[in-house]
Amino acid sequence: MRLKDKVAIVTGAGSGIGRAIALAYAAEGAKVVAVGRRLGPLEETVAKLAEIGAGGLAFSADVSVSADVRRIVEATLDRFGTVDILVNCAGVQKFCPLLEVDDPTLDEIVDTNLKGVFFALREVGREMARRRKGKIINISSIGGAVGRPLRSAYCASKGGVDALTRAAAAEFGQYNINVNAIAPGIVETTMTRELAQDPENAEEFRMRIPLGRSGRTEDVVGAAIFLASAESDYITGIIITIDGGTSNVVTRASEIRALRESAERLGMEPRMNPESSSA
Ligand code: NAD
Repeated sequence: MRLKDKVAIVTGAGSGIGRAIALAYAAEGAKVVAVGRRLGPLEETVAKLAEIGAGGLAFSADVSVSADVRRIVEATLDRFGTVDILVNCAGVQKFCPLLEVDDPTLDEIVDTNLKGVFFALREVGREMARRRKGKIINISSIGGAVGRPLRSAYCASKGGVDALTRAAAAEFGQYNINVNAIAPGIVETTMTRELAQDPENAEEFRMRIPLGRSGRTEDVVGAAIFLASAESDYITGIIITIDGGTSNVVTRASEIRALRESAERLGMEPRMNPESSSA
């Protein structure tokens, strides 16, 4: 067990990637404080932790409110006496052309995705600094580094998370705290369900994603465990991209067709692992 007896705060743990990370950490021996806005889904997460014999606490808080983030730290210390790992996974996304983004939407996205991470770095970072030890993992997005239409506020917020990850790593190293990020491409969760289930998009994913499918929450947990464990003790300020190769290549439909024809000529299956639950 790589996280035996560690105490981890995971925000956004009521669903999607955050819940998957909470469960994976528990399976590695951690006690998890599952944070989110609604208590119901968090209690479901904690019930799943209990099924594998792991301790957990469901804690309702809005990460975009600094007083709430302070309460998360207090509740964690009250219950478990320490905090070893922080995963900033809570996030929101809204699709809208930049020219039509209104102020409340901009505020919600920036306050949750960027200021929420800042508050947690500051409040949890203080506690970890006192103990001279900690692992912080920010869930960013490839949108932080690659321009995407209809997501200007989201991309800006995630670009901010990338910058914050590096800046915090530069400051927190002296306290033996590692700060890293994970930047997923498209992962099938409630945030992306509509996008992923559209048959036209499924074909697009097969074409444009080198590994031929959209991501699953299980694809993200390995890096999250690695960055929380002693295996990554000499790594800080990095961003691990998990996107099936999307953001590192540019492909055209004609080029994909040429590659498929080549595979046929060579008598090879064009895709070893074509299936995706959305495809
Ligand atoms: P999700 O909607 O299932 O999870 C987001 C969680 O954050 C939800 O449980 C929600 O309740 C919580 N949350 C939102 N605002 C909050 C707030 N103010 N305070 C507390 N909790 C709040 O979606 P997901 O795909 O699991 O997203 C998790 C993270 O991964 C997000 O930061 C998202 O930007 C990032 N991400 C997702 C994808 C993807 O394709 N799904 C891709 C790149 C990055």
